[in-house]
Amino acid sequence: MVDKQSCLSSGRCLRAEPRAFVEDEDHLAEATAAARELSRERLVEIARNCPSIAITVFDDDGNEVDLGRSPG
Ligand code: SF4
Repeated sequence: MVDKQSCLSSGRCLRAEPRAFVEDEDHLAEATAAARELSRERLVEIARNCPSIAITVFDDDGNEVDLGRSPG
C-alpha cells in the first residue's frame, strides 16, 4: 500500500508507526505485516500526512478507502 514511485523518503510514516512502516535499501517506505494490525482510522491519518500521497489504505474487502482528499 505504499507506492514507492511516489515516496519522497520523508520518513513521516516510519516515525508515526515504526513497526508498520520500514525503509528499504533505497530509503523508500514499505508497509509491513504489522500495518494490518493498525486501525483503519490510524492508517488513514498516516496516509493523509504523507506529503506525496504515496500511501493507499484498503478496507477488508480490498476496496480503496477514501482519504477525504479533494481530487486533483
Ligand atoms: S510518509 Fe509518504 S513520502 Fe514519507 S516516507 Fe512514508 S510513504 Fe514516503
